[in-house]
Formats: sequence, structure tokens, C-alpha cells
Amino acid sequence: MKAMMLWEPERLELVDLPDEAPGPGEVLLRVDACSVCGSDLEGYHGIHPKVTWPRVMGHECACTVAALGPGVTGIAVGDRLAGTGAKACGECGPCRGGDRSRCERPGGPGFTAHGAYAQWMTVLPRDLTPIPECISDEEAAVAQPICIANHAVATRAAVRAGETVLVQGCGPIGLAAMILSRRRGARVVSTDIVDYRCRRARDLGADLALNAHADDVLGAVKDLTGGRGADKVIECVGGDQDETLAQAVRAVRPGGLIAVVGSFANDRATVPIIDLKFNEKRILGSQSMPEGYEPVFALIRSGEVPARALITHRLPLAETRRALRLMDEKAEEVMKVVIFPNSGKGVGA
Ligand SMILES: [Zn+2]
Ligand SMILES: [Zn+2]
Repeated sequence: MKAMMLWEPERLELVDLPDEAPGPGEVLLRVDACSVCGSDLEGYHGIHPKVTWPRVMGHECACTVAALGPGVTGIAVGDRLAGTGAKACGECGPCRGGDRSRCERPGGPGFTAHGAYAQWMTVLPRDLTPIPECISDEEAAVAQPICIANHAVATRAAVRAGETVLVQGCGPIGLAAMILSRRRGARVVSTDIVDYRCRRARDLGADLALNAHADDVLGAVKDLTGGRGADKVIECVGGDQDETLAQAVRAVRPGGLIAVVGSFANDRATVPIIDLKFNEKRILGSQSMPEGYEPVFALIRSGEVPARALITHRLPLAETRRALRLMDEKAEEVMKVVIFPNSGKGVGA
């Protein structure tokens, strides 16, 4: 099978890997669509906290079950599923004893195990969600970052009607966080440092979208809230920078809450600690998507979240490098790129 192998940081190559048959407890998935994540870009540059190499990355995927290993129940060949499942380590006691389904240290496909920039994946079918018929492969793929935003907005920040929310970052997760917050009745200020991304936020409904390097974000938030500050901040930037958390603390009101979704490359962020302490502001993390796909599939199905509006490019597997370059350079007004490992669809679509 064809796969995109990250041999080491910044060396990504289309390779042939041996076809795998699913062992006991495993399923063989055909990857129909996989969207490219900012985490993959960090992995490519060797600065993502979780991605190891050599690695086939890719974790935002929609797949079809192609074969079942012995002992798999509740799943049928032909089922369309969202998610990556888990990869048995092959080395722990249960794995060595032939019972991979009880693996004690399963890897996360796309991060610590091979993922979905490949035609096929052989995985343990954990946390895989059936894709409703009316949701396309590409929508199911980009549903993943929307689910990440949903966890931050609905659970961690618990955004409510009437609140003012600052969403830092107008990438796909930031845009989804903005859309989901507005849906809950909040007023949203979105920020980014790239103008076309701010424009996109405006097009998709942000009450205000500002360039954090050119505009007075704190002044605008204060103006909007009668001088108090935002009720909540959702940080969706992370990466190799140290500006957003300081701004978040300044922008949030006394007693307000900051949810951190971004993955900070340096494991460090500067916080104005006196302001945080005196004004009893809270910073909390937001990780993964324990609510699962279902709430987001429902919102896509009802048209409340326009998943397709996040997609700007559709490419075949061989052009994954180009996808990463587009995202690196923020070229061609790129937002979400979807890779189609098993079809030429993609090109020009
Ligand atoms: Zn992702
Ligand atoms: Zn194991």
C-alpha cells in the first residue's frame, strides 16, 4: 500500500508499505479521506509534543471497514467509520500472547503509531463512530477538529448565551469554536495574524474579527464589554509563539475563564501572573474530544455547522507535502486540506 512516511523532521516521502491482514481483534480500514491538521504540520517540523518518527501521520479521517480479524463483533465490512481506532503495540504481554485487543499500551494512530496518510490502516476498533449516510467522507474527516472545538466550547469553557467570548486563532479549530460559541448565543471576537483568516471568520459570522498584530484587541474587547473584559477566552493558536496566553489573561474579565486548546511547541507560555491572581482568573486545558463525534455529526446534518466551508483544498495522497507547504506558507488562502488516499478525486475537485 502507498503511505506518506515522515522519516524524520521535514523528510516526508511516498512509500510502499507491506499490506497488513487484521489480526485477532483488529479491523482493516480503507482510508477514504483524511484532513491535514496543524498538529501534522508541527509533527512535520519535529515540534509536536506527541508525534514520534519514523511516522505515517494523519488522524482526522473517514474510513470504510474492508476486513475483520477473528473475534471482532458489532462492526461489518462496508461500515463507514470516523476516527482512527488504536494501534496495538505488539510488545506488551497480551500482544505477545496473541491477544492484541487487550493491548496495555496502544498507540495513537497518526502520533505514536502509523495513521491515515495511507491507503489502509489495521487498528483495534476503539472509539470509532458510524458516519451517517448523509455526511460525506470529507465532512466526516473535518468533523474531527470541529469535535475538538466542541469539547472546548461546550464542556471546558461551557459557553453560554449572552457571554462575550474571545476566540484566538481563525484556523479550522478556531473557526469552529467561533461558530459553536455563536450558536450557543455568545458574542464572539475572533483574532488571527493572517488577514484572509480574519476575513473568513467574518464571513462565517464572527461579530468582530481582528488582526492581533495590527489591531487593538484589548481595546476592542473592553469597548464591547463596557470595560469589563471577555467572559471566556478560547485559545486555538498554540505552536511556536508566546503571545496568546498573555493576551488572553489581559482580555478576560475578573473571574473569567481561559480554555487552552492550542498545543504549545515549547511547553512554555508567559502569563501575567499578578493580574491572574488578583483578579481570580482561571486557565484550564482542553484536550481531545470525549463527547465524541455524534453531537457534531448532528450539527453538520442540521446545517448548523457548515463543515464543508472549512475545506479549501482536496488533494491525492502523493501531494501531502504540497498540503503541508500550503499550510506552512498560508498560501492560496488555505484553510483545511483534505487528502484522498484511495482516489484520484482530489485533483482539481
Ligand atoms: Zn488534528
Ligand atoms: Zn500491546
